[in-house]
Amino acid sequence: MVQGNWTCCECNADIKELPFNPRSTNDLKCNACMSKGRPQRETFEGDWSCSKCQSPITLLPFKPEDVANLTCKNCYLKEKTASRMVEGNWTCMDCGNAITSLPFNPRDPESVSCRDCYQK
Ligand SMILES: [Zn+2]
Ligand SMILES: [Zn+2]
Ligand SMILES: [Zn+2]
Repeated sequence: MVQGNWTCCECNADIKELPFNPRSTNDLKCNACMSKGRPQRETFEGDWSCSKCQSPITLLPFKPEDVANLTCKNCYLKEKTASRMVEGNWTCMDCGNAITSLPFNPRDPESVSCRDCYQK
C-alpha cells in the first residue's frame, strides 16, 4: 500500500492509501467509486434446456433470443472443437485406416497419420 493524501475525483472523499503509486492524482477514485464504475457482468437466470443434450440451463451470460436453440456450455464447447475439424477422406500412412476428420488441413495428404499412430 502507498500512503498519501489524495482526493477522489468523483465523490471528493479523502484517499489515504492506494495499492499503487498514482501517476496522475487528478483522476483518482476511492474504493467505493472504483467498484461502482466497474462494469458488472450480467447474467440471466431462467428455466431453459439445451437443444442438443436436453440438460437444464439456468444461467446464461446473455439474454437468449432464440430459446429453442440454446446449447449448454458442454455442447457449446463440443461444437466449437468440432467446427475446427476438417472433413476429408484420407488414409493413414502407418496403419492404412481411413481418416475422415482432422484438426487441421494436411499439407501433404499422402503422409497423414490417424490419431492412434500419431500418438505412438
Ligand atoms: Zn469516491
Ligand atoms: Zn447440452
Ligand atoms: Zn494409423
